[in-house]
Amino acid sequence: MSAAGSPFGAWLDTDLEVARLIVEEFDRQTSTLQLIASENFTSPAVLAATGSVLTNKYSEGYPGARYYGGNRVIDEVEDLARERAKALFGAEHANVQPHSGASANLAAYQALLEPGDTVLAMRLDQGGHLTHGSPASITSKIWRFVGYGVTPASDDPDAPGEVIDFDQVRDLAKSEQPKLIVAGSTAYARVIDPEPFRQIADEVGAWLMFDAAHPAGLIAGGAHPSPVGFADVVTFTTHKTLRGPRSGAILTSVELAKKIDSAIFPGLQGGPLEHVIAAKAVAFAEAARPEFSSYAAAVVANAKAFAAALGEEGLRLVSGGTDNHMVLVDLRSFDPELTGKAAQEVLDRSGITCNRNTIPDDPRSPFVTSGLRLGTAAETTAGMGEAEMVRIAELIGRTLRGRDDPDALAAVRAEVAALCAAFPPYPGLVGST
Ligand SMILES: *Cc1c(COP(=O)(O)O)cnc(C)c1O
Repeated sequence: MSAAGSPFGAWLDTDLEVARLIVEEFDRQTSTLQLIASENFTSPAVLAATGSVLTNKYSEGYPGARYYGGNRVIDEVEDLARERAKALFGAEHANVQPHSGASANLAAYQALLEPGDTVLAMRLDQGGHLTHGSPASITSKIWRFVGYGVTPASDDPDAPGEVIDFDQVRDLAKSEQPKLIVAGSTAYARVIDPEPFRQIADEVGAWLMFDAAHPAGLIAGGAHPSPVGFADVVTFTTHKTLRGPRSGAILTSVELAKKIDSAIFPGLQGGPLEHVIAAKAVAFAEAARPEFSSYAAAVVANAKAFAAALGEEGLRLVSGGTDNHMVLVDLRSFDPELTGKAAQEVLDRSGITCNRNTIPDDPRSPFVTSGLRLGTAAETTAGMGEAEMVRIAELIGRTLRGRDDPDALAAVRAEVAALCAAFPPYPGLVGST
């Protein structure tokens, strides 16, 4: 395999080891199905900004108030990103410096809380994120987290359950008197309505933070309700449904702007990644275009078609379906012996990339699990539609049924490769072939 001749190799001919790995990863991303719900394919413009000379500049501080000289251009870059983020989401203030979703969340906590304060957030085993108070996360060492969950599953097809239990949220808010309530999840296939969270926060005098890491692109594209105007602080990642570079951002009011800004710098981070901030500016502008609304609608329509087809294969859908870009499946209905870990591994052999995930009240450990989380954001970017989602569900069914049959897996792998070749996410770019 040669990296020379590849657009990735052009500037990396001094380090063919790394160049070769980048090309190898390009090949992997474009010849297997990318169904990890938190991933996407950025535009070439986002890639270009991320790979630019802006990485060379130190710019601690904020536009107009930097600690080092030479930031005239950088100030314009960061102002552009902030203005575009504000316009895209209709927010009063944006901080585009968080290195990631986790940094954005830590900064929001630091801005609103004192150590030891109580926070009410979604339980990890019900779909909450590590930064929502996992024992393994520093968040649980600094603040006291109390967790809410989803309603029990039911056999009634009209009310399948496994949706956020707002009665429980209200009861816990009243009994625990949190200073902050966190809405948002990393494994929840339904709309998260900010309004009932706001009501409950008001009833107990708590701040409301909405962690929109997953649905940020669906919100920007108008497919999901916006938490701006309901939540005091909105944190999000820019690389999931929003389709920008791997990073984070925070939206808030003019009133809280100073607190949030100082929590990021100097509170939590040093110099901002201005090359990534430029790439965020590119992504915000892309997400403001009408095509992006069509994209967000297609992501949701694809997930619905995918969920229905996975149901046909005998997989039970957590909460009975989906409203967003992800599908959570319970493998126990398919085969009580099949774990999420085993399913993820055999799907990898078929070229179908996804992740195992705990499902509500999962009897297995988070390392093994009884579920899978699958997302449509990336392959919708590559141009796939509902027909392809139905096809992928069939390929998943064949893989899981044929998991002990190498010939069956090889046949699926070949069909996956052909499908990926028909929907290249970067049509102008070639990898090793
Ligand atoms: C992905 C995610 C994060 C963290 O984002 P990173 O960029 O990986 O740090 C935070 N909260 C939720 C709900 C997420 O899904």
